[in-house]
Amino acid sequence: MTIFAIALLFQQPPVLPTGGALTKQAYILSSAKAVPTPKVVVDTSAAPDLAEWGTTAATLMEQWYPIVWNLLGTDQSKPAETIKVTFQLKQDAPAYATGGGIFVSIPWVRSHPDDFGMMIHEMTHLVQAYPNSRSNPGWLVEGVADYIRWWRYEPEAPRTKITANNKYTDAYRVTAYFLAYLTHKYDHALVRKLDKAMKTRSYSDALFEESTGKKLDALWAEFVATQVK
Ligand SMILES: [Zn+2]
Repeated sequence: MTIFAIALLFQQPPVLPTGGALTKQAYILSSAKAVPTPKVVVDTSAAPDLAEWGTTAATLMEQWYPIVWNLLGTDQSKPAETIKVTFQLKQDAPAYATGGGIFVSIPWVRSHPDDFGMMIHEMTHLVQAYPNSRSNPGWLVEGVADYIRWWRYEPEAPRTKITANNKYTDAYRVTAYFLAYLTHKYDHALVRKLDKAMKTRSYSDALFEESTGKKLDALWAEFVATQVK
């Protein structure tokens, strides 16, 4: 038995939301262990007016890195010692993560000064650090990052509206909502299992069935039925 499996045996009982609605998730997985806090180094030299925003983001990331690390149950790679965050004037995405750190759009932050959640999303990508593998679907990689952001970090954020036109492969918030539903209803360790599979190049859709007893398409239909009245 691995340390990972032992940890799951001691998983805490869930905190169930009242009224049937899904709320921010606070399932405690007691494998929580001390993870060294990385030093977040921020370069706002291209936008001195964002220096304070950058410092706040760095503090937030230093607080949340060990939390995200434990939420994903990462036990086969090494935590980062340093994370570099570079603010750039010209880039298409609001923010993106690469092996070299996180790059943030200056115009985006100027017009969305409350968007610290995107830093949690990008930092989650650094914790994911999945190996290149065709078996890791992009929709799930983004879904996990948005699950951490919207269901573990953001305080009671408004939930995405799911329609009959959506699909679990829509990624981002749609997939995140689906993962939150499955986590609540079937398996509190689902996201960490998915993460571990993607880290070890062993992901397949069958993993959903192993956790829930139902096939992915059936799970999606069930979730949509709870959302589309
Ligand atoms: Zn992303």
